[in-house]
Amino acid sequence: MIAHTPTLFAAVALVATILAFCLLLVGQLNRRDNLLLTGCGLLAHALAYVCYTLYDHAPLWLTYLAGNSLLSLALAFYSASLFRLREQPVPWRLVFAIPLCMLLGLSLLLDTLEPRMLLATLVLMLQCALLLVWAQRHAERPGRAHLLVSIGAGISLIGLGMRVVAVLAGGAGEMRYDISNLKQTVSVSIGTVTVMMFSIGLVLMAKERSEARLQHLALHDVLTGTYNRRAILDNFAQALEQARSAQASLALAMIDIDHFKRINDMHGHLAGDEVLCHCVRQLQQQLRLQDQLGRYGGEEFLVLLPGVPLAQALDTLQRMREAIAADPAHFAGREIGLRFSVGLWCAVPGPADTVASVLAQADAALYQAKAGGRNAVRLVALAGAG
Ligand code: GH3
Ligand code: MG
Ligand code: MG
Repeated sequence: MIAHTPTLFAAVALVATILAFCLLLVGQLNRRDNLLLTGCGLLAHALAYVCYTLYDHAPLWLTYLAGNSLLSLALAFYSASLFRLREQPVPWRLVFAIPLCMLLGLSLLLDTLEPRMLLATLVLMLQCALLLVWAQRHAERPGRAHLLVSIGAGISLIGLGMRVVAVLAGGAGEMRYDISNLKQTVSVSIGTVTVMMFSIGLVLMAKERSEARLQHLALHDVLTGTYNRRAILDNFAQALEQARSAQASLALAMIDIDHFKRINDMHGHLAGDEVLCHCVRQLQQQLRLQDQLGRYGGEEFLVLLPGVPLAQALDTLQRMREAIAADPAHFAGREIGLRFSVGLWCAVPGPADTVASVLAQADAALYQAKAGGRNAVRLVALAGAG
């Protein structure tokens, strides 16, 4: 089926305008989404296709030079948006130097046919290739959104490649924007798919990003960045089940900073906050990849050590105590030493061991450590601990 090329251009312009309007509105309302750049890209995309629609009815500088420069600008915005949405630094100069080169190059070649077509197409291909590489290479967690952007860039490369082949084969005249034939219909339709893929992909990326941010907030402690109470308890329930079914040992340490109230009273609440963060950093350094640390309450922490026998759990706690003793916290030029007490539960979980019962036992052992003078580890007496 052969479609009327200027009508197809107008359809793409309309779709891109509607999408741009929606994204600019949404991006303006919630700047954290970082969707403004995507909206700017779609607006430039829409304007480019308006210019193409006017081909042969308006001066060439508007329909060709401005049209292709705007399309190149749109791809630059999409690239910048890709980095922005991933909260990575945007290579602004590289990204926006390319449309500038397009503008300058086309200004010089505007009176030619094949050279200007080749220049415009090759520059757009370069931008799509860069988008493809950036979408793949720098993604922390490439998901559906990255896939859509990559497919958009890939399809675009195919469409542009077809134009290059047509021009090199002497068919430049057939690829003029006011000519309707099968090649043009396929090529412009590919442009439509590209707009949809880029916009949906980038919007999806913003959605994935904000979901990840919300999930992080829901599971992590705002002050120290470690797991919060809910997350560490969920992880403990899982670890308990796994250890039970694998008949493996599991250690749970309930850690409470000694006389923390005094630290607050002597040095102030902000110093207390810094001590909590310092403590988390120090504890974290002694953990293996599979171990977990979470803030159970104000100055109380839970440490999960899966698969470790008692001797190894005691060894880990000893290293934590030594590390904290050797490296005190600092606040406002003052050194703040800290100690902690621990209630330790370590066993192969049996059928009667639940999250609540283990926590109660670790808490009782911690109470004994406090009652015994603090700065100590008290073990929950159990049969079966390794
Ligand atoms: P003990 O050795 O018996 O554990 O004494 P303690 O002073 O550490 O224990 P207590 O539970 O009496 O005090 C805990 C204090 O921790 C009380 C509370 O004001 C403080 N706290 C709780 N959360 C925070 C926080 O986020 N930041 C700061 N700076 N202090 C906190
Ligand atoms: Mg406490
Ligand atoms: Mg305390």
